[in-house]
Amino acid sequence: MIIGGGPAGYTAAIYLSRANRQPVLYEGIAPGGQLTTTTDVENFPGYPNGVSGQAMMADIKAQALRFGATIRLGTATHADLSQRPFQITIDDTHQIEADSLIIATGATAKYLGLESEQRFRGQGVSACATCDGFFYRNRDVAVVGGGDTACEEAVYLAGICRKVYMIVRRNVLRASKTMQERVMSNPKIEILWEHQPQEVLGDDNGVNGLRLTHKNGSERTIDIHGLFLAIGHHPNSELFKRDVETDEQGYILTQGKTSHTNVPGVFAAGDVQDPSYRQAITAAASGCMAAIDADRFLNTLD
Ligand code: NDP
Repeated sequence: MIIGGGPAGYTAAIYLSRANRQPVLYEGIAPGGQLTTTTDVENFPGYPNGVSGQAMMADIKAQALRFGATIRLGTATHADLSQRPFQITIDDTHQIEADSLIIATGATAKYLGLESEQRFRGQGVSACATCDGFFYRNRDVAVVGGGDTACEEAVYLAGICRKVYMIVRRNVLRASKTMQERVMSNPKIEILWEHQPQEVLGDDNGVNGLRLTHKNGSERTIDIHGLFLAIGHHPNSELFKRDVETDEQGYILTQGKTSHTNVPGVFAAGDVQDPSYRQAITAAASGCMAAIDADRFLNTLD
């Protein structure tokens, strides 16, 4: 059984169905995963002209279906992994038994919670600079956050964009010293300390500004075309925490270079176990690894 309908889960389904393991995949509340909230994907190998996130996920899913994978709508709402077969409850209504489980439930980018931010999601508001930065070539953009991700994204965007504002809510960065130095020494990055976004401004063409307040109550507006949120991600691992070990942020811990969790027969793939890379291609690759690990595990039961 595979839980999660993103690149990791679908790729695991391709490999397991081709290995004649008849995988059953539950897609969860967001079939297609985080990629369906992005615009064009231009960095996934094999699509020289780019592809929309939705179309790419539909392609990967179709590939899994072609080899006989069973893909169902439904969300896992309870998991008992304390003994085999594992017991997974779907939509609080029915239970599935599985000899092996691949957790590919992904992560969710945190957003500020502004109404205007949601309105412009995918039209200038993004939570992934590597995915969407290229669309703002030679334009002005802003990154919200002061952690390692925000610094990394600001430096990445500075290589593409004309100017990058970093909106930081305190008067210090949380990021490591090295990342801080990289940001501070980059002439294209301007840090707006002790500022908090209040409203994303824009029109039918997308974002064109951001209204901010300073801690002292003063207000200002900056002209930008892209707004990148980098205030953290939340791995979707709650359901499994009773049995599966995670780090302090909730990312599932895998063993060495494998997808094995601490529970034999349970494997993790994609963003739920990856605080670092978070790319479609790395998620897909780890789905492949989990499928191979699960197939080998099932061989020991056969
Ligand atoms: P972090 O939780 O480390 O940082 C989040 C940042 O966003 C903080 O500066 C925080 O401010 C700010 N923030 C949170 N909520 C809000 C809000 N509502 N409004 C405004 N600002 C907000 O997340 P990261 O994604 O940066 O990093 C996650 C983990 O991954 C860390 O352990 C990091 O070190 C690691 N990482 C390492 C990398 C590397 O080594 N190359 C690259 C990327 C990540 P405040 O500081 O005030 O709380």
